[in-house]
Amino acid sequence: MSTLTWLFDLDNTLHNASHAIFPAINANMNAFIARVLGDADAPASADAVNAARLAYWQRYGATLLGMVKHHQVRPEDFLREAHRFDDLSAMIRAERGLGRLLKGLPGRKILLTNAPRRYSHDVMRHLGLHRYFAKHIAIESMRVHGRLRPKPSRALLRKLVAQERTTARRCILVEDTAGTLKAAKALGLRTVWVTRYLAAHPDLQQRTDAVSPPKLSKRPVYVDVKVKSVRQLTHHLHRLR
Ligand SMILES: [Mg+2]
Repeated sequence: MSTLTWLFDLDNTLHNASHAIFPAINANMNAFIARVLGDADAPASADAVNAARLAYWQRYGATLLGMVKHHQVRPEDFLREAHRFDDLSAMIRAERGLGRLLKGLPGRKILLTNAPRRYSHDVMRHLGLHRYFAKHIAIESMRVHGRLRPKPSRALLRKLVAQERTTARRCILVEDTAGTLKAAKALGLRTVWVTRYLAAHPDLQQRTDAVSPPKLSKRPVYVDVKVKSVRQLTHHLHRLR
């Protein structure tokens, strides 16, 4: 039997991004989009910003992609502005024991996050989890045929499986975002849905989710294992191998 490959999401999977980080990213994004959509005299209104965000999110699965396509925004500028924090480490909230958990899970672990590299690197360092991951794939590296293809892109997941010289069946995606779990399941990956951090701020919970979030009380068909916390993964291993 070949090795398992674990694909771990970062925000709201390995730590609680809804606590302070997502609200800050949200405010940063709104300010940036208002500047881009506005004119020399004034930023655009909150209504105009919200309408653009909703439209791009529904059409492309990510606000970023719409801003790049329609407003000649450079992805690196958008990501840098969205991830400006006065004191990131003070904003991070996570459970204890994640290092022990990751160490005990059989197989290779890859971090797969739609966040930019600098931010995800800083969060992983703060959590002390970087050492358990063989690879760190941030949004800058999510390119297929030269184009930016963040999660939930199936092309991205397909490319990743091929690159890792494994099969979809031997890959397990651990995520909070429904759309990404759905895409992964369609390609034959195993899926774990982490629900712990979803309830508090449903409007801020997801970076890219064009699929409306399912009810937390249910296990959707594209989810193999539903856990509240990644710490419960060990109890479900038999259903993922
Ligand atoms: Mg997430």
